[in-house]
Amino acid sequence: MTTERSVHHDGTVRALRGGKSDKPFVKRMNYLALATDYDGTLAKDGHVETPVLHALNRLRSSGRKIVLVTGREMPELLSVFAEVAICDVVVAENGGVLHWPREQREEVLAESPPESLVQELVRLDIKPFSVGRTILATWRPHETKVLDAIQRLGLEHQIIFNKRAVMILPGGVNKASGLRIALERLGIKPGQTVGVGDAENDHAFLDACGVSAAVDNALPALKDRADIVLTKDHGQGVIGLVERMLDDDLQSLGPCVPRAEAVERAAEFERIAGL
Ligand SMILES: [Mg+2]
Repeated sequence: MTTERSVHHDGTVRALRGGKSDKPFVKRMNYLALATDYDGTLAKDGHVETPVLHALNRLRSSGRKIVLVTGREMPELLSVFAEVAICDVVVAENGGVLHWPREQREEVLAESPPESLVQELVRLDIKPFSVGRTILATWRPHETKVLDAIQRLGLEHQIIFNKRAVMILPGGVNKASGLRIALERLGIKPGQTVGVGDAENDHAFLDACGVSAAVDNALPALKDRADIVLTKDHGQGVIGLVERMLDDDLQSLGPCVPRAEAVERAAEFERIAGL
């Protein structure tokens, strides 16, 4: 490919591809992956709109990876998101499962839900609740009964909220733990990843990303901690983020660099400590 250079009015010299496009040719990408939540972020009312899929396709064409990070169990995700193969990998069950859609392969990252807890939830007549490969899921206001049951049975399980959803998982399993393993498999560092979400269960994985973004409909606490608060909601917000990644690889976000370094240092510490 031929490359020509162009001097802009601000004095910067930019290389132009083939001299035909006025888009700057970014030689080295800082951000190699987008990690996105599903419900309330990529999807509205459970479904992903066509323009959002087009934006994800453009991101893939740039060589970047797409990681879907969701609290959903795979069967229910597949029932609403037929285009899941647009993603390189899905972190499902809030970090308990990795699903590789193009290979239709699954990796279970945590222990199965304890039978004693399942039986206890049946005995307490908690409805509805679902049993995944690693997750037990129900809805508010059952969290107090569930927490009592966990304590009574002497389990180390934790409760994670996602708006009205109540998720029960083994200790230490969350969206961040699942995302770290997914990125390791892809050979991408957390600091090279841009995360986007909308709710409580997204805090962990957004904190683990080099740059974090919140869609306009996100909970206020999530917006407060995010590096970027998007001006549009749900998938439209994600489209805006994708366009910024494609436009300048988020180079306009200079202040996020220390955060990316902190993420790398934390990951290095965990490697050394064998966590
Ligand atoms: Mg969500």
